[in-house]
Amino acid sequence: MLTKVEMTSKDYIELEEKYGAHNYHPLDVVIEKGEGVWVYDVEGKKYLDCLAAYSAVNQGHCHPRIIDAMKKQAEKVTLTSRAFRNNQLPLLYKQLNELTGYEMFLPMNSGAEAVETALKAVRKWGYKVKGVEENKAEIIVCSNNFAGRTISIVSFSTEKQYQDGFGPLTPGFKVVEYGNAQALKDAITPNTVAFIVEPIQGEGGVVVPKEGYLEETYNICKENNVLFVADEIQSGLGRSGKLFAFYYEKVCPDLITIGKALSGGAYPVSAVLGTREVLGVFNPGDHGSTFGGNPLAAAIAVEALKVLVEENLVEKSFELGNYFREQLQAIPSKHVKEVRGKGLFIGVELHPEAKGARRFCEALMQRGILCKETHDNVIRFAPPLVIKKEEIDWALSHISEVLQMD
Ligand SMILES: *Cc1c(COP(=O)(O)O)cnc(C)c1O
Repeated sequence: MLTKVEMTSKDYIELEEKYGAHNYHPLDVVIEKGEGVWVYDVEGKKYLDCLAAYSAVNQGHCHPRIIDAMKKQAEKVTLTSRAFRNNQLPLLYKQLNELTGYEMFLPMNSGAEAVETALKAVRKWGYKVKGVEENKAEIIVCSNNFAGRTISIVSFSTEKQYQDGFGPLTPGFKVVEYGNAQALKDAITPNTVAFIVEPIQGEGGVVVPKEGYLEETYNICKENNVLFVADEIQSGLGRSGKLFAFYYEKVCPDLITIGKALSGGAYPVSAVLGTREVLGVFNPGDHGSTFGGNPLAAAIAVEALKVLVEENLVEKSFELGNYFREQLQAIPSKHVKEVRGKGLFIGVELHPEAKGARRFCEALMQRGILCKETHDNVIRFAPPLVIKKEEIDWALSHISEVLQMD
């Protein structure tokens, strides 16, 4: 009998390290298969995924309904380009409208592209509608933001490493302190066209601003004819325990960017949701993307949104998130400074003396739980929203022991 030559995790890691650009520092787990909240490495070891691909896999890995929709559409037509129309994109628009009440949508692929689209939209609105003098538009962003990795987006990052070596940077951005509404008020000028904010900062370390911040900044924007843009690419689509994290307050953003879980992790799909006044500024030829709005992406996104609603994942995130956070708070650990978050969007910040979150993530990986440090001292727990209470309890028993290590 012929024996198949099996590659081990070590072999894959060696290949990747040899040929791949080293722009990531992954945990050394080589995943071969995923199902719901579980993933399996090439040796067959099972792990509970507590990162969910940065919240792209809210619906769980390889959700059967999403994969089925993907297969069905893949057998019909995958890409038409927007030079022609297809019979799936309009259905995604209709569904987004019914789900969110927004009037207009612009589909892209990655989250960064959705943010770039929003930047273009608010600038053009500034010139064509608000009447800002050409090339003078200013966009206000927050410290500690994350919105992707393009040159323009890293141009407004406050993370030194994200900019180092990538200049010249794009001008036209002003940074104000996250969580400080007065700072926004002071920064606005007649040339300000928009304020872009993550209702909860994900990459920044699951930072929840104090209650009322979104409402206050929203009102400041409205008083000054400045657009309010919510980046819900990570916090949105159920992660925070609401469909959008801004639903916790009374605001009505002019634009919303979504991505990640819009496809349940099956395909890159993103979109900008907006008012007709703002997204209406685009004319044919102003903006586009070869793959943006393709029928495969649209069919997948339609099903991914249906799963979110029909499986009550938003409500589950709210309830199980409260439970998970309470239980984490009860762990007697000298390392934990703060447990915070909303829904199943949870950050555990460690004291500086804990010597970094990475070693805790590595210890959890040994025990079959995958999570990733964000910044140096925050462990993010953001499992797929299909997680069950028993699975949270199993994870908690390990997390509790690991957080009580020396
Ligand atoms: C991940 C993320 C993005 C960028 O999405 P990509 O698909 O990685 O380009 C933008 N904004 C926020 C808040 C994110 O978390």
